[in-house]
Amino acid sequence: MFKKFPGSLFFDTLCSHCHAREVDQNGFLCSVCLNSLYPKPLRYFEFEFLDGVFSFAPYEGVGKTYLHLIKFQGAKNLIPFLGKLVKPTLRKVIEEIKPDLVSFVPTHPFRVWFTRGFDQVEELIKGTYPNYVQLFERGLIPKKPLYLVGSKFNRKKHLKGSYKLKPEMAKLVEGKKVLLIDDLITTGSTGNTLAYLLKSVGADSVYLFTVFYKIKAANVG
Ligand SMILES: [Zn+2]
Repeated sequence: MFKKFPGSLFFDTLCSHCHAREVDQNGFLCSVCLNSLYPKPLRYFEFEFLDGVFSFAPYEGVGKTYLHLIKFQGAKNLIPFLGKLVKPTLRKVIEEIKPDLVSFVPTHPFRVWFTRGFDQVEELIKGTYPNYVQLFERGLIPKKPLYLVGSKFNRKKHLKGSYKLKPEMAKLVEGKKVLLIDDLITTGSTGNTLAYLLKSVGADSVYLFTVFYKIKAANVG
């Protein structure tokens, strides 16, 4: 038996979050950390074009580790587990706002979640809302993930040309209440830009649901 050191890169059987306990069968987190992610929902209504933002839990602590492992460490087997945790919150949001259309923000890793492992949520949406559609396509692929781009101004510059509404979707959106789903909200500028796009072709209202939020405490309503 090797002696284990917390945080050591060389002993990968230790939990990626607490660095103290052995990992569970998932291979990344111990069972204590795995089960310590609770809903701490956010509701926020102060964006210019988004009519409302709903979120499952803050991007901190074990939630931050979860997302990081899934997006950057290939922890695919955490995805269905996270999906199960998020499902009740998402279901409530769907019941409350009763969207006509549900779509995803086409951030690359997130689309992979939903098309592969995150089907817990996708099935829910498909089952509840047959009008689950991919409204957007990517234009330019940003050089780095958006949340690594500093200020709001830079994000706007960065986003320019990043997302396009699929031309055939413009008519579909007219007069509709749209719910967009994403993994993380930081400044809200992605959601706000997409809401602007949808409203410019006649969407009635646009809401955003994200799994995690990283909005400054002062902004949380
Ligand atoms: Zn742990």
